[in-house]
Amino acid sequence: MSHVFPRHCHASLPTATSGDGCFLIDQTGKRYFDGSGGAAVSCLGHSNPRVAKAVKAQVDQLAFAHSGFFTTEPAEQLADLLIANAPGTLDRVYFVSGGSEAVESAIKLARQYHLERGEPNRRHLIARRQSYHGNTLGALSAGGNAWRRQQFDPLLVEMSHIAPCYEYAERTTGETLYDYGQRVANELEEEILRLGADSVMAFIAEPVVGATLGAVPPVEGYYTRIREICDKYGVLLILDEVMCGMGRTGHLFACEAEGIAPDILCIAKGLGAGYQPIGAMLCSSEVYQAIANGSGFFQHGHTYLGHPVAAAAGLAVVQELLEGDLVTQARNRGTYLEQQLRSRFAQHPHIGDIRGRGMFWGLEFVADRDSKAPFDPANGLAGKLKKAAFAEGLICYPMPGTRDGRNGDHILLAPPFIASEAELDGALDALSRAIDSTLATVQPT
Ligand code: PLP
Repeated sequence: MSHVFPRHCHASLPTATSGDGCFLIDQTGKRYFDGSGGAAVSCLGHSNPRVAKAVKAQVDQLAFAHSGFFTTEPAEQLADLLIANAPGTLDRVYFVSGGSEAVESAIKLARQYHLERGEPNRRHLIARRQSYHGNTLGALSAGGNAWRRQQFDPLLVEMSHIAPCYEYAERTTGETLYDYGQRVANELEEEILRLGADSVMAFIAEPVVGATLGAVPPVEGYYTRIREICDKYGVLLILDEVMCGMGRTGHLFACEAEGIAPDILCIAKGLGAGYQPIGAMLCSSEVYQAIANGSGFFQHGHTYLGHPVAAAAGLAVVQELLEGDLVTQARNRGTYLEQQLRSRFAQHPHIGDIRGRGMFWGLEFVADRDSKAPFDPANGLAGKLKKAAFAEGLICYPMPGTRDGRNGDHILLAPPFIASEAELDGALDALSRAIDSTLATVQPT
């Protein structure tokens, strides 16, 4: 009898015993291709010698020093490396232990920034429907996924949620991609004006929406307009790259593809690549200086801020990404993955959309391609797909509720950047079989 409190009380899980490149191996010796990197975590696979060595060396050298008393070499070096490669005027790095903590830090920093500048009325955060920003109460309040929020609703902080940039489902007939992007970006301006321009502190969004929409990139011009609106009203732009950042989209920072930079940026997952739990919030020099020249103290903190072993892992990961040119590899291998996905599934009667960037792809399932109607959620399509793929030796990340938190199903693929073409072919063979066997069991609408 287990004493672990698992995610699902009635699931019986295999025990993962080792990792080998892109594969995880269970206690029976069965190998699973990690087609989603867990949840877009394991960009370097599961047996990277450089990162493992860095972690071991750091534990031997110094396991922990509280950031209230000391800084450490790995934290300093990792911050330098991130800032040397970061977009815009991002200048400071606040290290935490994961994505939700990075988002919490970003929300609190946005509030304190305005306080320090003498604008205490700025308190509203605007986010988007169908986004995911984490499971702590602040991050969950920012998230716009109805299913995740529902039972905690009475505890959540009030925040606004505007439309996502999700053209497959929400662009109207006859509307160009560009016009659609401008229309939904302009919802930000409308919401700022509705709330009162001097009361809004920040807008938060995922550049490429991950878990809750399935790798949905923005349309051209969307983020340019968002940046313009934020600048016009003095609203901070927080980009959540926890899932899509660190090379996943073929850019070290996903927002590079949009030609804009945020005031605050959140990263995690691929930063530690699974070797250590680490996240970070990066902020612009202007935001940092508001605190430094004001109270001089960000009213926040956790015990494990800047943990040296986590920072050593993060440093080795970023060095590996940069020195091994693995971001380019993610882009190139991603082009192969896209071609394979399109050649196998573009004409599939129940796959309505294939979208993504780099090594970050989503397939959206529909009962009917013409109307784009999703399957009846009672079918539990996403859950069945996850099981069927796992039985085939493929880890992927299916989610229900793509459209509105309840209706719609997608699969997210986020394989390690080191995956070979042959490994991707094998994974897609397994995925095809899983899709066929699952669809044979579901009822349209
Ligand atoms: N933000 C985004 C975009 C995410 O995808 C996630 C996790 O999936 C989080 C935040 C929360 O990260 P964590 O689970 O590390 O707390």
